[in-house]
Amino acid sequence: METFEKEMNEMREYYGSGETKKVSWRESQLKGLRRFLVEKEHDILKALMLDLGKHQIEAFRDEIGTLIKSLNLALSDLKYWISGKKAKLPQIALLSSAEIIPEPLGLILIISSWNFPFGLSLEPLIGAVAAGNTVVLKPSELSPSCSSILALGLSNYLDNKAIKVVQGGPNESHHLLQQKWDKIFFTGSARVGRIVMSAAAKHLTPVTLELGGKCPAVVDSLSLSSWDLEVTVKRILVGKYGACGGQACIAIDYVLVENQYYSKLVELMKPWIKKMFGENPKDSNTIVRIVNKQHLSRLKNLLADPKVKKSVVYGGSVDERNLFIEPTILLNPPLESAIMTEEIFGPLLPIITVDKIEDSIKFISSRPKPLALYVFSKDKSLQNRMISETSSGSLTFNDAIIHYAADALPFGGVGESGFGMYHGKFSFDTFSHQKPVVRRSFFTDFWYRFPPWTMNKFQL
Ligand code: NAD
Repeated sequence: METFEKEMNEMREYYGSGETKKVSWRESQLKGLRRFLVEKEHDILKALMLDLGKHQIEAFRDEIGTLIKSLNLALSDLKYWISGKKAKLPQIALLSSAEIIPEPLGLILIISSWNFPFGLSLEPLIGAVAAGNTVVLKPSELSPSCSSILALGLSNYLDNKAIKVVQGGPNESHHLLQQKWDKIFFTGSARVGRIVMSAAAKHLTPVTLELGGKCPAVVDSLSLSSWDLEVTVKRILVGKYGACGGQACIAIDYVLVENQYYSKLVELMKPWIKKMFGENPKDSNTIVRIVNKQHLSRLKNLLADPKVKKSVVYGGSVDERNLFIEPTILLNPPLESAIMTEEIFGPLLPIITVDKIEDSIKFISSRPKPLALYVFSKDKSLQNRMISETSSGSLTFNDAIIHYAADALPFGGVGESGFGMYHGKFSFDTFSHQKPVVRRSFFTDFWYRFPPWTMNKFQL
């Protein structure tokens, strides 16, 4: 780490040289990143299989494909993003002009999570590089094959004087956090988010915290036809078990449905789980494995509570040796149990029943603000109430997860699910300072702006 401090100084000097601010440099890094993803596709898919048991189609969809899309956008829009935007001045500033010019922040630290090891590392890197910064990336130690590809692979494609990858866990992270950065972009748990924020406070470093929480899905069955309900069920299942096996910050955590409709929902889910993951999901390679033994025990403990165990209506089997937990549905586990107070982050799906679907508004609002809220309903008045009476990082009607891939939408949390946003131009802005630049003419000064202050100036 001592040598690392020397490297950090060299990175600062390099930033000071102005090289990373050049449009040509930014473009070459973005293109390098794209070449890395294309040429290393095979190794990336293999590493995701090794670390997480992620099927190559899911892996391509969520990491390589999404990233290439983001890189293409950054490359096509870069010149527009960089350009100054004209701003209006008050009339008093006659013959003057103003613009807002984005400038890079300097030296950035990105700390990322293991569940989308490439997506969560490289999506912010795209924004940081497009904005002209130097970057240190610390991927998660829990996906070591992926981290090692990032560390060894990226150096062959990117400018090593400006972009470095540091491998390691909490110790290395701790050491990095003691340094002075111009911005820290953190993806992970609220627990570590607090550590990051207090370390940043020492140097008054701005932070973006991409955290998690419990993302609800509300199913307003009354407003849905049987066709709609079938579509709803498929989208819920893929928004849970098909999103890194439920180990995703925006995966559906639990479902809210009216009392009278839950059994229909569960009965529809059962055959679809079989269609998606086979009669014996343990043998299926389409469901991501639990990342490690600690997380498996954590999930097993959620199920161990006798009252929770009793609420299992589908699945529930655990194969520790293969880090596998069956897609599981629970009906009304106690609201005070850990499964309903902690983020689940795995393939366990509680269904909570409410008397009236409108009660779900109060249910959601009385808990920490989620990163994502999903509402399946055709009822416009319920939709409007959800928009105005709940708060969440994002709100999607009639689907789940898809907003992650939309470049035109900011991605980020609110309240305990984090703050700051990225994706598309929002990533560029996250790593830029919007500098107001005013150009004054030497003509026309109004006499009343200068002292001495006299009453006739006041009465003007
Ligand atoms: P984590 O907080 O344990 O780890 C995240 C990163 O912090 C890793 O790189 C890790 O090495 C580092 N770290 C761990 N302990 C640390 C410490 N004591 N000091 C400094 N650094 C430390 O989270 P995780 O297990 O990687 O991810 C799961 C959490 O992340 C969930 O809460 C999930 O919702 C959230 N998440 C959020 C998003 C998002 O985009 N909002 C995406 C993925 C995951």
